[in-house]
Amino acid sequence: MTAVQIFNVKHNGVLSVEKIQKSDAEWKKMLTQKQYEITTKKGTEAPGSCPVDEVHEPGIFQCIRCGTDLFRSSTKFESGTGWPSFYEPVSPLNIVEQPDRTLGMVRTEVLCVRCGSHLGHVFTDGPQPTGKRYCMNGFALRFEPEGKL
Ligand SMILES: [Zn+2]
Repeated sequence: MTAVQIFNVKHNGVLSVEKIQKSDAEWKKMLTQKQYEITTKKGTEAPGSCPVDEVHEPGIFQCIRCGTDLFRSSTKFESGTGWPSFYEPVSPLNIVEQPDRTLGMVRTEVLCVRCGSHLGHVFTDGPQPTGKRYCMNGFALRFEPEGKL
């Protein structure tokens, strides 16, 4: 097994955890059809189709597959796209950004560092302070309200 360093909000520090590697069939068993298609097959949800986009209370958006902390509510903004949008991740440690040349475009894909889940893409037309727009699939995320952390 391979270890990976992630930032954990509850512990307010970096933890070393095992990477999670599962086959397509294993993920399919654990997830809903929509979650599976997005996170494992790199799908995209229809804009405005996920209730996660409407969440604005304080808390953390975590990876639906492995629970890694990904984005804070405080960095969520109204992008008008119908997809949950953030200007920065919890920590650069927690995500992987890699070039995606599908669909005749050059985009930057965002994945969970621990389980390799496809989360969405990052663009450079976001608000300050980073100027980045992490355009996520709500079905790739689960929301943990602040009190529960
Ligand atoms: Zn994950």
